[in-house]
Amino acid sequence: MSSETTSVTNGVAEALRRVQERITAAASGCGRPPPELVAVSKTKPVELLLEAYEAGQRSFGENYVQEIVAKSPQLPSDIKWHFIGGLQSNKAKVLAGVPNLYMVESVDRQKTATALNKAFAAVGRAEKLKVMVQVNTSGEESKSGCQPGETAQLAKFVDTECDNLELVGLMTIGAFDTSDEPEAFKILATERDAVAEVVERAASTLTLSMGMSADFEAAIRMGSDSVRVGSTIFGAREYPPK
Ligand SMILES: *Cc1c(COP(=O)(O)O)cnc(C)c1O
Repeated sequence: MSSETTSVTNGVAEALRRVQERITAAASGCGRPPPELVAVSKTKPVELLLEAYEAGQRSFGENYVQEIVAKSPQLPSDIKWHFIGGLQSNKAKVLAGVPNLYMVESVDRQKTATALNKAFAAVGRAEKLKVMVQVNTSGEESKSGCQPGETAQLAKFVDTECDNLELVGLMTIGAFDTSDEPEAFKILATERDAVAEVVERAASTLTLSMGMSADFEAAIRMGSDSVRVGSTIFGAREYPPK
C-alpha cells in the first residue's frame, strides 16, 4: 500500500478564481469598482465551502435555515453568512441564533422584518443585522420578493420601525434573460431610487444585490454592488433553488 497522499481538490478554488477574474474584467470594462462576491453554497457539503474559504472567500450565501444552522458551526467563524432564501417568520429566531449571520437579503414582507427584528434583539449582538429588501422583478409567481410598487413602503418600514435592523439595499433574482441589459436589473435600480427618496438617503448608499451564475456580468454592467454566484463556483446542484 502506498503511503503517498494526494491533495484532493474539487476544482472549487480554480472555479472561484475564474469567477473573480470575470468579475474584475466586467467591472473594469465599465469603469466601476468590482462588486462583492457572495459564494452561494446551498446544498453543497462543507468540504467544498472550506476549499473556497482557503482560497480566500469569506462571504457565503445559503437558502435554507436548517442548512445554515448545520454548516456554520463546522466552518471558520470569520465567515460572513448571507441568508438569501425564503424566510418564514417562525424560523427567524433560529436564523438569528447563527453567531456569524452577517446579512439577510431576502426580507420581502413586514411580517418577516418584524420577526427578524424581534429575534435579533433577543440575541443581543452589538451591531444591527444588515438586511436587504428582496424585490420580485420578473413578475413570476414562483419567485419570492415584494412587488416593485411595494418596495419603498417595505424599506421604509424596516428603516423606521425595526430598531435592530439596518437597511443596506435591495436584492433580486431577476428572470432568465440573456440580453445585454436585463429588464429586471433596470427595475431594481429604479426601485432603489424610490427607496432612497422615502428613507431620505442618497441612492448611492443603498446597495444592489443582483447577478447570479447566468447573468452576473450583465448585472455588473448595470450597477450591481454584490453578485451571488453558486453553480459556477461549486458545480451544478442536484435540486433547483427554491
Ligand atoms: C441559488 C441562488 C443563487 C445562485 O444561483 P447560481 O445560478 O447557482 O449562481 C443566487 N441567489 C439566490 C437568491 C439563489 O437562490
